[in-house]
Amino acid sequence: MHILIAGASRGIGLALADRYLAQGHHVLALARQPEQSEGLAALARRYPGTLRTLAADITDRDVAERLLAVQGDALLDRVIVNAGISQPKLDSLYDLSDADAARLFVTNAVAPLRLARSLAPRVVKGGAVAFLSSQMGSVELALSARIPLYGASKAALNSLMRNWWAEEDKALPFALLALHPGWVRTDMGGSGADLSVDESADGLVTTIEHHAQAGSDCVFVDYRNETLAW
Ligand code: NDP
Repeated sequence: MHILIAGASRGIGLALADRYLAQGHHVLALARQPEQSEGLAALARRYPGTLRTLAADITDRDVAERLLAVQGDALLDRVIVNAGISQPKLDSLYDLSDADAARLFVTNAVAPLRLARSLAPRVVKGGAVAFLSSQMGSVELALSARIPLYGASKAALNSLMRNWWAEEDKALPFALLALHPGWVRTDMGGSGADLSVDESADGLVTTIEHHAQAGSDCVFVDYRNETLAW
């Protein structure tokens, strides 16, 4: 299979690339500075024939066009948009500058949907498009505490994904997934988090593959494939 992972330099995205490469698939890894990623360099040594990298920022407007130029005629079986940023913990929502708030929403919601929608014609029937969301994006659970704008940006991601599905009369030829990876020990999750990247990535891959096989669907699930409230 051909797997695109956007935001693969470290953390969960890198671990997902590792999983799919180990299973023998072709991975196209998008990273802002792939040459600076020790993790990607190690994977390139281990899987020289099946890993390709592309230097790109997910917020670049021409990112899909550049990806397709690299991808050639090959279709994509899985598109995984993992790239995301958090926000500093604040006492007040209003302490974040408007420019930083805009960057949060563009990076976490607008750019992932823009990229995925541009790539959709190249995604195989029976494939999957997955976004790394967060349980903090659940409006119902309202868990985002002192990082409410981060939670709101993931809620926006989920909303844009569901709107896309609705626009297509809930009949896209591939599955759409908003994924909560658990609380994971990465640069973003911190050292006190519950899960290793390997535990999270194993669960995420199993979940993505389950829904790809199940066919057209639009779900918000965690790394154990447990459904979350929107
Ligand atoms: P990290 O901060 O460890 O890694 C983030 C990744 O996203 C890096 O590869 C980073 O690249 C990339 N990235 C950020 N902005 C951009 C951009 N503009 N263009 C391209 N790549 C970009 O995060 P995690 O691995 O922990 O998180 C991955 C995803 O999972 C995120 O979407 C996050 O919100 C979500 N998540 C994580 C949780 C956790 O507990 N860790 C919990 C819930 C959700 P670079 O090296 O260039 O900065």
